[in-house]
Amino acid sequence: MLAELIHPIAAMDHEEWEFRPRPSNGGPDTCLRKMAYQAYDAPQKDPHGRFLVVLDDSSWHEELVLQWLERTVFHIHSRQLRIACGTTIWKGQPQTINGQIDGIVTDLFGVDRLLEIKAIEHFTFQRYADGAYPTNYFTQVVFYINGVLTLNPDLREALLLIKNKNQSAFLEYRLRYHPEEDRLTVVEITHSNGTHTFPNQEFIGLYRQALTRFAVLETHREAGSLPIRPYENVRNFHCDYCPFKKMCWEGMTRIPLAGQRPMRAELIPLAQEFIELDEKLGPLEKRWKDIKQLFQLELRANGVQNLYGGGYTVNSSVSSQNRLDESLLPKELVARSKRATPTERISIKQVQSATTHTAVPDAPTSLAS
Ligand code: SF4
Repeated sequence: MLAELIHPIAAMDHEEWEFRPRPSNGGPDTCLRKMAYQAYDAPQKDPHGRFLVVLDDSSWHEELVLQWLERTVFHIHSRQLRIACGTTIWKGQPQTINGQIDGIVTDLFGVDRLLEIKAIEHFTFQRYADGAYPTNYFTQVVFYINGVLTLNPDLREALLLIKNKNQSAFLEYRLRYHPEEDRLTVVEITHSNGTHTFPNQEFIGLYRQALTRFAVLETHREAGSLPIRPYENVRNFHCDYCPFKKMCWEGMTRIPLAGQRPMRAELIPLAQEFIELDEKLGPLEKRWKDIKQLFQLELRANGVQNLYGGGYTVNSSVSSQNRLDESLLPKELVARSKRATPTERISIKQVQSATTHTAVPDAPTSLAS
């Protein structure tokens, strides 16, 4: 009687916001091509009412979290404060990148920290709890800190609080920002289950990178072109949830790559880092496998599922995967079912001759690409 009504009502009330550069869309995980479609106001698939209700209830979760926090000894203030977080060129005109913060939290020692609250679904939360970093949210925080600094030049830290909407678990990132170097450090991660880690992980250039992305987007907008698809194929969750998926991939044929061009200057240190990581990963992975095998042997030799001691615990668990047993199928059927799937390998080597590299902008592709 009622259950079927809510999603259609949400869809009826939905209004699309005009696209513009914002702190929330500057992060490196947002598809630039999707942003270009939004900038062109390209026809998009209407969002399902269920999706809109999911977004709406995230805002309510965030509001409820703020209400809980207001009952603690921390002082929450400057809620929904509007700030100017930087400027960019948009539609040929200088444009202020505006932001609206969730608030500022002041502790008992009078230290102010920016507060940003997110409420997300279980699987993404679990990815973060397992160690992936929410870099889009970090970028948003960096924009907000840059904005707040114009009002409070002493503010250097932020608390990013992420709620698991399904289980009400929380992850808190204490972040420190050095605006002069555009350097964000993940100082501490606290899980509501009581675990604390101090990764001291640095992200350098999130703010600059976001401004560069907005500038590249503006170049495409002016040229009527689209950035290249950043994904190998359509089978990824970014495209699955993208309202431009059909338009973006329809008729797409894979163009064989050929020829060469100078590398963009900002990629050169990454090429060096790739080589260094590659050299370290091989021996590290071998050592990791050796240790794992040693523990497996130890568990088997003792006939136990768990070893503990010195603050560590080693567990053995068994999981199963469904795989086709080809030996049970007729040989012709197996042969006919096999397809060659191309896999792309990237290798990077250092070349000996000294070459001067200059920054090369993204090559625009045509709208039809
Ligand atoms: S379908 Fe995928 S590649 Fe295309 S715009 Fe959307 S997210 Fe980007």
